[in-house]
Amino acid sequence: MKTANQYFREVFGHKMYKASICLDVTCPNRDGSKGIGGCIFCSEGGSGEFASSRADTVTCQIRKAIGQVSEKAGKDAGYIAYFQGFTSTYCEPDHLEKALLEASSCDGIEAVSIATRPDCLGDAILKILEEQAKSMPLYVELGLQTSNDTTAKLINRCYETGEYVKAVEELKDIGANVITHIIFGLPNESRDMMLDTVRLARDSGSDGYKFTCLYVLKNTELEKLYMENKVEILEMEEYFDIVEDAIRLLPEDAVIHRFTGDGPKKILIAPEWTMNKRQVINYINRRFGL
Ligand code: SF4
Repeated sequence: MKTANQYFREVFGHKMYKASICLDVTCPNRDGSKGIGGCIFCSEGGSGEFASSRADTVTCQIRKAIGQVSEKAGKDAGYIAYFQGFTSTYCEPDHLEKALLEASSCDGIEAVSIATRPDCLGDAILKILEEQAKSMPLYVELGLQTSNDTTAKLINRCYETGEYVKAVEELKDIGANVITHIIFGLPNESRDMMLDTVRLARDSGSDGYKFTCLYVLKNTELEKLYMENKVEILEMEEYFDIVEDAIRLLPEDAVIHRFTGDGPKKILIAPEWTMNKRQVINYINRRFGL
């Protein structure tokens, strides 16, 4: 197992920071084409609460993001243009192509990362991503969350797990590096079911992983279930026991891009342990010998 820091230093020769971008896009299970309301845990910000204003140009969002960390990052650092909010490939191919060209030509950008859904990669989008991957490293983050289609229905994911498997294959064929998002602690999932998701991602050929504990945000469907005591939230030790088991299943060169997520504090309801970021980071460093 490698951490993202170790991996990026190997690939780029220095530390890499992400410059978050939110395109003016939505998501097929929010706008009614597949579903409405979005995944039950997703906030109105579409996982992009930390991104700059989506009304700004791509260049402007990148400059702002770099400006916020450049002092700490220093002159030697590089940046990844990170299309983070909602489903970044859920748009007209031309729109994505222009956004990628603009991002790639910004000063300091050495790679591009795109967060999306496996069912939002048609031939035209894949062609654009293929061209992008020829010019600089391309990371595509797929929100799998679970390999269990019953849980997927319950969380309103609105695509079948087979679509993820196909998408990983297609993305690897065009030279993209695939990072899979997995949530531990989804309703009704046993530890074995969570680890089955890791096995499926591994066997599909995922290069990297972002794990997160299920967290409850205000004004989400999950909040209602949580208030009705229908969802149990994992304790810190319990969660990291599962992460440790997951890492044991992965090949040595697998990259762990995230050991856990931390929801935006303003709208985070549970788990409380994720609010103390410093304590969680210290725990991760100690437990995983980082
Ligand atoms: S697919 Fe992503 S952006 Fe869309 S509702 Fe689910 S988590 Fe939110």
